[in-house]
Amino acid sequence: MKILLSKNLGFCYGVKEAIKKTIEFSKKHDFTYILGELIHNDHIMEELKKYNIFTLENPYDQLKEEISKLLISKIDFGLVFSAHGHETKLEEFVKSKKIDYIDATCPLITQIHSKFLKYNLKPTDVFYIGNKNHIESIINLKLLKYKNLSTSKNYTESSFNTDKKITFINQSTYKIDGLKEYVLKNYPQLDFDVMDNFCPSVRNKYKEVKLISISRKCDYILVITDIKSSNGVQLYNYSVFCFGKDNVFKISDKKELPTFLSKIGKDKTIFITSATSMDDKTINDILELLRNY
Ligand code: SF4
Repeated sequence: MKILLSKNLGFCYGVKEAIKKTIEFSKKHDFTYILGELIHNDHIMEELKKYNIFTLENPYDQLKEEISKLLISKIDFGLVFSAHGHETKLEEFVKSKKIDYIDATCPLITQIHSKFLKYNLKPTDVFYIGNKNHIESIINLKLLKYKNLSTSKNYTESSFNTDKKITFINQSTYKIDGLKEYVLKNYPQLDFDVMDNFCPSVRNKYKEVKLISISRKCDYILVITDIKSSNGVQLYNYSVFCFGKDNVFKISDKKELPTFLSKIGKDKTIFITSATSMDDKTINDILELLRNY
């Protein structure tokens, strides 16, 4: 078996920083609570428990109540805002209670939220492209002002009302490269703007998948991702789009390798890529088993 590795395996800078900052901060308190999952990687979230770092997994709207319960318990704790961002009013609440906290929001997400402030001065109807149930989208949609909102994972499956101006806004893990051309061709009357938030770290992974698919230098693409990771699942979908469903697989752990291996031959070439929240240990465990196969 020949293995080709992505040049962008493992954590992106946003994830790396969020973990580093959280571990450092946890030294100040008996307990540290993250407001929503810090990153989507069960192995890392489990690892963090060794530092007494836990996640408040409640729906975003119930976090204030959970923080109030912690205050009543009188334990010594600090709070961490996760890499996916948060509303200023939640931060103000934490400050008003004089709780020690850090903000581990990815710098790119902070930049996107600043763009929202500018957009909110002149809100239009919004067509949001992303997974509306993902925490990043839940927060994005709370921060955006708009007249009417439509959301979809795929803009080509929707129709648009051409009477009103629309601003297209995407989740940072949803690629919308052909959107402008698509709208100009299919809705020439539509007055629209595009706020493209696609993350460069994810884009680099897409580029590799596209190149390897065109060159046909491998037989299979293997995407290592937690199933909760939006960018990992999107990377898998994009790989399927480029390379075909039968030649692309996704796994989150070495335990899932036997199923994958049972479907491929030993003399094949595999290209391996990963979600931006996938840790080196999980990746290396998988690589070791593959190399010895
Ligand atoms: S994938 Fe992009 S937006 Fe998400 S944490 Fe990493 S750098 Fe930030």
